[in-house]
Amino acid sequence: MKNILIIGAGGVGSVVAHKCAMLPEVFGEITLASRTLSKCDDIAASVLQRTGKQIATAKVDADNSDETAALIKKAGAVLLINVALPYQDLNLMDACLKAGIDYMDTANYEPLDVAKFEYSWQWKYQEKFEEAGLSALLGSGFDPGVTNIFTAWALKHHFDEIHTLDIIDVNGGDHGHAFATNFNPEINIREVTAECRHWENGEFVESAPMSTHQSFTCPDGVGNYEIYRMYHEELESLVKHIPTIKRAQFWMSFSPNYLKHLEVLENVGMTRIDEVEYQGQKIVPLQFLKAVLPNPGDLGETTKGRTCIGNIISGIKDGKPKAIYVYNICDHEACFEEVGSQAISYTTGVPAMIGAKQMLCGGWSKPGVWNMEQHDPDSFMADLNEFGLPWKYIELTPEQAASFEVA
Ligand code: NDP
Repeated sequence: MKNILIIGAGGVGSVVAHKCAMLPEVFGEITLASRTLSKCDDIAASVLQRTGKQIATAKVDADNSDETAALIKKAGAVLLINVALPYQDLNLMDACLKAGIDYMDTANYEPLDVAKFEYSWQWKYQEKFEEAGLSALLGSGFDPGVTNIFTAWALKHHFDEIHTLDIIDVNGGDHGHAFATNFNPEINIREVTAECRHWENGEFVESAPMSTHQSFTCPDGVGNYEIYRMYHEELESLVKHIPTIKRAQFWMSFSPNYLKHLEVLENVGMTRIDEVEYQGQKIVPLQFLKAVLPNPGDLGETTKGRTCIGNIISGIKDGKPKAIYVYNICDHEACFEEVGSQAISYTTGVPAMIGAKQMLCGGWSKPGVWNMEQHDPDSFMADLNEFGLPWKYIELTPEQAASFEVA
């Protein structure tokens, strides 16, 4: 049993705290810390009521690495799980180096003033972690996270070479609000309004946001959705670590209603991330927008429907073309029943717990900075089945893979 420190008391932090508390044989004392102490206390009360486990809470400014290092020591933690915001990643990695403990997160570092999604800043910590004999695990959510593991597992068990990868993230849920995002609105809107990039023949190719889309029918009756090609951070690490990939794309479903609201918000300037002067004060429009939108952590009560996230992978095995689709379907209402959260927080928080478990007792804590696909996927895949995110895979013909026919 080892002690851990979870930073961030939002939708994802709540799921991580609940799921870790359900595994006392792996996770010893759990401390949940965030900027707003009352949010940690509310989650701790729910954890106690649902699991019978008492967790500690603390207030911390995760941008201050000395303050976080002192808290790590006080908590006696051996691993920090970062489920605050991507802006905090580097400061929290510094805090782990100062306190001498392992680090993990679910999203790559982003500078506050520019929406740039790349691993370069965190990969630069490779030597520091290696020299300190410490381990950092990057992107242990669903996408990135499980999607990387699905790819590594496919390569290990189904392919000699992977040639194409299409990650398809469908949220077939309805939260009943006119407009709301399923995770932190600021991060979500920065991501979906960014230029699209996909990997083709050795380079990233840019296109206008949301300019390429098609219809996709999910398996198991989840339904038919319009999916839009966009950039997503796991593409960068996957094409680096699996160099046989000739084309890699990421697709996400959006409803016409979501896109209508987003277009208006963009057109009126509400998604800007630069500061504007308002009544003698500087505000960032997107941060103000976040303050008036529904809190994603509160959507669980009203959200119905299922998510369906998976990878269509094609390549060769024993000299012959081969293709598979590997996916998970998750029910919003079942997640709410289990931990009081909707499925987007759940599908991120469960892999965060499983990643932490691999680091604590699954042999994943080798010194250095690692993306998910650099570790052996088998025990993670087994844990997905055991801890709430069961997966399936189906074999496809090359034609089915090319036309995304999985249902
Ligand atoms: P929320 O906004 O709900 O929660 C973020 C939490 O971090 C809040 O409790 C916030 O505090 C806290 N926080 C922010 N800044 C600081 C700071 N300086 N010091 C201490 N605490 C701070 O976000 P989500 O739970 O929706 O998302 C959490 C993370 O998960 C994000 O990085 C997101 O990108 C990632 N994610 C990853 C996914 C994946 O599949 N890989 C999918 C979805 C999300 P306060 O409450 O005071 O604002």
